[in-house]
Amino acid sequence: MSTKDLSAWNAEFEALDWLESQAGEMISLVERLCDLNSGSTNLVGLERVADILMDEFSGISDTVEKLELDRWNRVDDSGNQTEVKLGHALRFQHQIKAKRKIWLGIHYDTVYGPAHPFQRCHWVDDQILRGPGVADAKGGIVVLLFALRAVTRCLLSNEVGWEVFLNPDEELGSPGASSYFRRCAANFDFGMLFEPALLDGSLAFQRKGSGDFSIVVRGKSAHAGRDFHAGRNAMVRISKLAAKLDELNGKFGDSTLNIGQILGGGPTNVVPDFGMARLNVRVDCPDHQESLVATMRQIAKEINGEDGFSCEIFGEINAPPKVPDFAIGQMRQWVERVGCFAGEKITWANTGGVCDGNKLFAAGLPNLDTLGPKGGEIHSSREFLDVTSLVPRAKLAAGMMLVHGLSPDGLLAST
Ligand SMILES: [Zn+2]
Repeated sequence: MSTKDLSAWNAEFEALDWLESQAGEMISLVERLCDLNSGSTNLVGLERVADILMDEFSGISDTVEKLELDRWNRVDDSGNQTEVKLGHALRFQHQIKAKRKIWLGIHYDTVYGPAHPFQRCHWVDDQILRGPGVADAKGGIVVLLFALRAVTRCLLSNEVGWEVFLNPDEELGSPGASSYFRRCAANFDFGMLFEPALLDGSLAFQRKGSGDFSIVVRGKSAHAGRDFHAGRNAMVRISKLAAKLDELNGKFGDSTLNIGQILGGGPTNVVPDFGMARLNVRVDCPDHQESLVATMRQIAKEINGEDGFSCEIFGEINAPPKVPDFAIGQMRQWVERVGCFAGEKITWANTGGVCDGNKLFAAGLPNLDTLGPKGGEIHSSREFLDVTSLVPRAKLAAGMMLVHGLSPDGLLAST
């Protein structure tokens, strides 16, 4: 960055102080969004939240769209594949023909369905707001919205085009949005995602990959008294398989395999002919992704050679590991530099958690994915947001967008 650029940026950065006056507005929008349920499969609730978001983003966007997503191909509790309709994704674009373009995104669904007891926000003290989705990720949506509002007040905003994408299915693993991520990645210079920062405020650097699998074993039912030996007990077989798969833990670096659920069986006088295990696999690198999944499939497949049993395995690693490359290293330096201007020291941590940043990275879009506010205990009834982090994070995000507007060939030109 030249000295001239730097002084221009200094002036622009001061303009971001406008955000200080917006703290109250930001907090009340978080409360408004979080008091409305938008569990991933609550289509009515998602639509209500979507309408508010369309309204809020319309003032700064050239185009506002609701997009249909692919259906979610789910294995139900009987081991059959079913299609589930998902909510709409929202897309807002601004100066999308600009030479330099940023992809901005975060999800607006939450893990809390309408039947969950955690439905409304409440204050713990002046700083801490509890509520469903306050940190993950409606607080992040608000940070993004106000960062963009601040940017549009700056001259440099003329240099930068952007697209905002808000998806309704991230907490399901983004089954509907994944194909969109693959298609859009090539159109942008880099991505910024607004998942909550880690508990201590650190940004995520390296992330594991993740995938959910369902393994279905079918055996043969029989009367437990009259004909026990003619039966093939699928519950016993799936349990043995689960124990064997569990032994894979520790054999593929830091990768893990978690048996989350075993389903099947019924009356005790019937040999059960159906057993299903649902599991989650986290992989620490692409090599282990391949070898662990291949081993798992091989072990499950062996069941097909056994008398009276059959086995099917559904699923894949749908969020590949995010192992930072040169481009992400550059973004890291860049956000640290902007952090200096914003008076925030940026710290980093690796995490086993995954998000859409993994998918975009795999599709070729370098991104930072924890630019949302500080909070914690996400996915629990104690989820909280540190509301004092809303303005600083919006400033940081806005500063990052403006820096991109300064550099003639884009910040990542040296890659
Ligand atoms: Zn989440």
